Amino acid sequence: MKLNATELSQKLIQIPSYSGVNSQVIEFLGNYLKNLGFSCNYLEYDGSNSYPVNNLHAVFNPKNSQRVIYFAGHTDVVKEGDKASWTHDPFAANIVDGKLYGRGAADMKCAIACFVSAVEEFLATNKSPDFGIGFLITNDEEADGVNGTAKVLKWMQENNKTITHCLVGEPTNPKKFGEMIKIGRRGSIGFKIKVIGKQGHVAYPDIALNPITTLINLLKILKDHKLDSGTQFFDPSNLEVTSIQSQNLGGNVIPNEAEAAFNIRFNDTHTSQSIIDLVEYACKKTIGQGGFMGAKYELTYRTSGESFLSDPKFLAPLVAKATKKITGIEPVMSTTGGTSDARFIKDYAEVVEIGLVNETAHKIDEFSEVSEINQLQQTYLEILNQF
Ligand SMILES: [Zn+2]
Repeated sequence: MKLNATELSQKLIQIPSYSGVNSQVIEFLGNYLKNLGFSCNYLEYDGSNSYPVNNLHAVFNPKNSQRVIYFAGHTDVVKEGDKASWTHDPFAANIVDGKLYGRGAADMKCAIACFVSAVEEFLATNKSPDFGIGFLITNDEEADGVNGTAKVLKWMQENNKTITHCLVGEPTNPKKFGEMIKIGRRGSIGFKIKVIGKQGHVAYPDIALNPITTLINLLKILKDHKLDSGTQFFDPSNLEVTSIQSQNLGGNVIPNEAEAAFNIRFNDTHTSQSIIDLVEYACKKTIGQGGFMGAKYELTYRTSGESFLSDPKFLAPLVAKATKKITGIEPVMSTTGGTSDARFIKDYAEVVEIGLVNETAHKIDEFSEVSEINQLQQTYLEILNQF
């Protein structure tokens, strides 16, 4: 049965699908695409210190073309929270006053529906296009993201599945559809620093070593250091301290240890290694190891993504042109926002993110405007027509 983009969106929202294995939502999409002539692979991965995840790979390429445009997205949604605080049932997919309500409407089930619907409309008049069309759908982007997109891409490479261009349907617009597409992201590293001093009485600071003082000095040095001034496509890199704590031993006790956490979002003038080197240098210079009265530090970090820029050569201008044709708005090519699976895809293909409005993503009463769902479907169709 042919469903339009909104009806398809409703079907997807009506299947609650949290990160991990959800066969129902993945099979629903697989079956729909099979009916359009796609060949599908259901890929379930586990291990790597994470939970099992099922994924869908689907491709339609009757002429075995070397040019294959993929659509990448995730069917998993974040938890709805307290259902009672929703005005509209998060899994009913009701349409009220032109808004489709439900968990995953903005992020990003409607975008998946739009792409499926655009492909269906495109193939109705182009039975044998001279390029291939693929889908890379994971049910784990919102949580670990370990057994999803990254492993499917690796499988594709090992099985000679060509991918040259990719659209990611994450919500990219702050207020209305057409404002913004994304051509890259800043990288992100979370740091934790523990300073070990020497516990003592606040009245005798000369025979103690206050780790809080040392920690504050270090954080000030790091915070004041200008990482860069931004680039043509990137905001300046920034550091934000997210927590500071000590043992809180009482009002008259200098604690033995103090800890802080901070995150650095960095643009493509840095790599994760150059950022780590910089932080380590600052720690060494400020605290040292076993130096003055034995002050020490322990630094740990986790990189959640390198910065990247998908050079706007072919796909980004095409997407911008298609968006303008449908909405009348010239979209900004941006690199703002948190990380997405585009960070994995950029190593394999030219990748552009274009989806709906992100304002209600992850929130109570998440919704997408039906009129914008139609615009997104038309934009994806226009991209396929111009590809
Ligand atoms: Zn998302």
